[in-house]
Amino acid sequence: MAQLPQHYVIIGNGVAGNEAAWHLRQRDPDSRITIMTAGRLLFINRYELPSLFNGAGADGNADWRPFLVHPPEYYTDNRIEVRRSTWVDKVDTLNRTLTLRHKETVAYDKLLVASGGGGYVPENLREFRPLMHPFGTFGDAIRMRDMLPKGGHVIMIGGDMIGLDLGRALVKQGYKITIVGDEYLFWPHALEGERRTKALAALEKMGIEVLAGKKPRVVEEIKRGKQARRVAFEGGGSIKGDVVMSFCGLMPSLDFMVGASVDIERGLLVNRELQSTDKSIWAAGDVCQIWSPEENHYRFYYGWKNVKDMGRIAAFNMTGGKESVATFQDEKLTIKRKGGIDSPYWEYE
Ligand SMILES: Cc1cc2nc3c(=O)[nH]c(=O)nc-3n(C[C@H](O)[C@H](O)[C@H](O)COP(=O)(O)OP(=O)(O)OC[C@H]3O[C@@H](n4cnc5c(N)ncnc54)[C@H](O)[C@@H]3O)c2cc1C
Repeated sequence: MAQLPQHYVIIGNGVAGNEAAWHLRQRDPDSRITIMTAGRLLFINRYELPSLFNGAGADGNADWRPFLVHPPEYYTDNRIEVRRSTWVDKVDTLNRTLTLRHKETVAYDKLLVASGGGGYVPENLREFRPLMHPFGTFGDAIRMRDMLPKGGHVIMIGGDMIGLDLGRALVKQGYKITIVGDEYLFWPHALEGERRTKALAALEKMGIEVLAGKKPRVVEEIKRGKQARRVAFEGGGSIKGDVVMSFCGLMPSLDFMVGASVDIERGLLVNRELQSTDKSIWAAGDVCQIWSPEENHYRFYYGWKNVKDMGRIAAFNMTGGKESVATFQDEKLTIKRKGGIDSPYWEYE
């Protein structure tokens, strides 16, 4: 009987998954490659999502096509099957199968977990999630834009670099931004002392208000329409706004790996070849923690350049290569001479 082609399954249609798919196709032309994604769209450039608020887009235009990184033909030409709106619910490492939410079972030979992370919401605020707007997908961005009146007020809990990227775009369009809390401010950059003071001054100069030292306690809907949300603080006091968002870093999306007998800490643990404790499973991107011998622990490396590189390296190793990740550089925030700030997390090519 003729041998079946190798089946590579990739969970995740972001930077890591797409980069890996491309390299897998180059290195194993006869293989089968399937990308599973919970999302409804093909790979979009979500780094550009804040531009939906830039003038032209803010008139109600909700066309996702300009955000596509590859046209649909790219996937056909490269024989990469993308299964959209497809949730992976479970991984059975013993039988090498995935169970999808609609109960279908899919067999893999080699699996790449590139399922990224969702916006983290601090535990004490999770019950208020229905009153907050996420900002991870095109649909999220459109829903949030529709909720926001012209010149409206966005309250951001946390203020990580993804939030600040959106914040600076919104301020330019005449919206008001207030950041509440300081624990996650500038995440994943860790700023202390004078650099932090300077970066805070830069935010103020940009027109972003920061309520440092305030800990949000409750998010409430006070009425429908304008100024529909209120955030109350521990120790008293509150502010009202139109939209509340949590920008407190990312939480790896790994529910489907629970019970799969693969080591997980917060992310999926991988060695420097990006292989997990299961020899048929690799991981890349925001979902994985990579062993750092210098620091003697597993750690995350964020930012699209690192994530893209991980996709390539994982594909290389899944096809018989042996490449270790070099120690990625920690991305540094720069405070410009005139007081502005710049971050590699705001760049995308
Ligand atoms: C709005 C936003 C803007 C950002 N902007 C920048 C930026 O400008 N610069 C920068 O360096 N970094 C930015 N980031 C950080 C970003 O997290 C990473 O750099 C990178 O995009 C992560 O890529 P990834 O491939 O690991 O995961 P992701 O791009 O998050 O892709 C994860 C994929 O996994 C799928 N998935 C998850 N769970 C399941 C499941 N159970 N079943 C099926 N599919 C599943 C999702 O549908 C998605 O397709 C931004 C992040 C966000 C959310």
